[in-house]
Formats: sequence, C-alpha cells, structure tokens
Amino acid sequence: MIEARGLTKRYGDTLAVDNLSFTVAPGRITGFLGPNGAGKTTTMRLILGLDRPTSGTVTVDGKPFGQLAWPMREVGALLDAKAVHGGRSAYNHLLCVAQTNNLPNRRIGEVLELVGLSEVARKRSKGFSLGMGQRLGIAAALLGDPKILMFDEPVNGLDPEGILWIRNLMKALASEGRTVFVSSHLMSEMENTADHLIVIGRGKLISDCTTSEFIAANSQQSVRVRTPQREELVALASAAGATVRDDAGGALVLLGLTAAQVGDLAFENGIRLHELAAAHASLEQAFMELTASSVEFHAGLPAGAGRESAHAGEVA
Ligand code: ADP
Repeated sequence: MIEARGLTKRYGDTLAVDNLSFTVAPGRITGFLGPNGAGKTTTMRLILGLDRPTSGTVTVDGKPFGQLAWPMREVGALLDAKAVHGGRSAYNHLLCVAQTNNLPNRRIGEVLELVGLSEVARKRSKGFSLGMGQRLGIAAALLGDPKILMFDEPVNGLDPEGILWIRNLMKALASEGRTVFVSSHLMSEMENTADHLIVIGRGKLISDCTTSEFIAANSQQSVRVRTPQREELVALASAAGATVRDDAGGALVLLGLTAAQVGDLAFENGIRLHELAAAHASLEQAFMELTASSVEFHAGLPAGAGRESAHAGEVA
C-alpha cells in the first residue's frame, strides 16, 4: 500500500506535484497516467525518498520510505533502466545490489531466470539492447521479493514482444497480491494493463477510479450506422439531439444517442439499417479530452486540434 496525502513538490517556479492525495492498493495494477511533464517521475521519486516533498507526506505500508528497515524487501522500483554500470555483467550488477542490501545471493539466479536473462548473465550489460536493460532493471527491482513494485514508463521504446512480456509480468505480480504502480503517458497501453487509474495533469489529481469507470465517465458514446436512407436518418437523429458525422465507406457516426435509441428510431420510422454498432471510445481519447486543458504545450497544434484528432481516431 502506498499512501500520498497532500503531497507537494516545488522546483523553483515549477509546481511539479501539487497537493496529491491517493492510495495505491495491493492485488491490482494501478496505472499512473499523465502527459509528459505531469509530475509522475517526481511523485515516484518522492515515494522512494529520492527527493523530499515541499509539503505533505507519502508512506509505504504506513512508513516514510526512509524509515523502512529493509527497503528493497518492501519496495522494488524501475525508474531509469539506463542507471546500470555498463562495464559489469548482469550477474555482477545484481550481486552488487544484493550485497549492499543484505539480500541472499541465491536470489540472483532466481530473478535472472524470471526475467529471462540467465543465458547472458555473464555478459557485460553495455552490449544489452533496451529491452534487455529493462529486464535487468526489473530483475534488480525483484531481488528483494518486495510486496510493492513501481515501474516508471517501463514499456518506453520496447518492441511488441517486450511490451507483452512486461504487461504479463505486472499482471502476474498483481495476482500474487502485490501492489503494482506503473506510470505511462501511453493510454492505449494502460487500457490493456491497469485495473485502476490515477490520472494527473500539471501535478494535480484529475481522476482516481477503475479503468472501466474512467472510460465510461470520460468518453462520449458513439454509434456507427449504415443505411440506404441516409438523409432521412440524419434528419431524425439530429432532431433527436444527436451530432452526426460522415464516416469512411458511406457510414455515419452518431454522437449523443445509444445504439438502442438509434435502432428504435430507425424501426419506428421505417428506415432500413445495414449496420448498427456501438463504438467504444478508447482510453486514449478519454485521456486526451480530460487532460487537454492541463497539457503545457500542444506541440504546434492550434488550440482544440488535439480534441479533433481524438474524435477522428475514434471513428476511423
Ligand atoms: P513526468 O514524469 O510526468 O513526465 P516529471 O515529474 O518528470 O513529469 O516533471 C514534472 C515537472 O517538474 C516538469 O515541469 C519538469 O520539468 C519539472 N522537474 C522535474 N524534475 C525537476 C528538477 N530536478 N528541477 C527542476 N524541475 C524539475
């Protein structure tokens, strides 16, 4: 269990973390979402005692990190996978971590096996690919068999196989009853991984709920329809309050009505439907809409352009 209460961190004029209160519970994957610069890494550094909060508190199983008797047996973290001494072999890197933290050497073989690096254990990590580096970082995090695991953007730059591996590992760790806290700016990734979401923007808490609640609360419902009586349906749906857009291949996308309402409307007015499907807006879209006002820079896009492209993505 991780508990933040009024957690605040200021760097000069930048309020990196702004009065955050949240709880990360065991037995599930909690996604920590926010655009780049939202304050995710800073929050994780505060949890690990690598930085001091300006105000507020954060505890790990009821204690500030600095007061944990055996930190690596309680919390394992992957923050910066490149923070490994490249001249050492994977085995020696883990040996060094084990010895400085009073962990048994036999655990090294176990974690190397777990992350699939046994065969390259004696090779220098300098020659490792990004994915192998991530695996080594995760091996170090697992060395103390901790109940709590934190991963900061673990899938950044990984190939699909590496992404799938990390996702399955996190699921397995959560199913063993561990607390898994993983940050990302990739909504599409969290949609398939996280059970619960803590969403922040500009250091502030925006949302704290289950992934399905987040999608339901933040995404607009849309219905895709195909009919030979387009004009009639457009007129009826508009009169019923829907917003209508053209979609590829002559289909229509209606916003503001459920699939059942569109079906009933068509039936009652004798309109033939060749296709009727409820479209589920993606988490990516919900997230972009929610954080649109909290993103510092829009990468050269005019105001509102991000929202438009999100809608375009939904109906594509
Ligand atoms: P995220 O991990 O969500 O991308 P960060 O926690 O890295 O966000 O950064 C949050 C904000 O704090 C950013 O505006 C960043 O520039 C700023 N920041 C982070 N670390 C420092 C630091 N050591 N000194 C000054 N500003 C910092």
